[in-house]
Amino acid sequence: MSLDALYQEIILDHYRRPHHAGLREPYDAETRHVNPTCGDEITLRVHLSGTTAGDTVADVSYDAEGCSISQASVSVMSDLVIGKPVADAMTLHDEFLTLMQGRGAVEPDEDTLEDAVAFAGVAKFPARIKCALLGWMAWKDAVAQATRAPMSKEETA
Ligand code: ZN
Repeated sequence: MSLDALYQEIILDHYRRPHHAGLREPYDAETRHVNPTCGDEITLRVHLSGTTAGDTVADVSYDAEGCSISQASVSVMSDLVIGKPVADAMTLHDEFLTLMQGRGAVEPDEDTLEDAVAFAGVAKFPARIKCALLGWMAWKDAVAQATRAPMSKEETA
């Protein structure tokens, strides 16, 4: 099996059987991101073990609609970041972003990115990069909200 075919299989596998899908409680922040060029939409919730960047990503849950790349990407991402310290997960986000912006010239690190290396080929197709990044952007946004001013959560509760 060629590398491209293997990557294709990983993406289709996550698309058909998405990991951690569905919106769950409890959560600290919820975001909704859309990718109008493709029609992808995602609502994503993040639950942290506390309220600072030093905490662990306790859960990521989501409701995604759209193309196979956008849905597979958020499934892979949730596998990667759940259970990791927020700082480590943010490093993964940055690595994935670098991979996606590398126009296919960045060599992905399989030890850290695991199944996310399957999206390396997507970087060659500018129109699909936003699909692959949608879930990661929604996650980063949600973490930013969850770690910002924990007081405001009590005020709005
Ligand atoms: Zn898409």
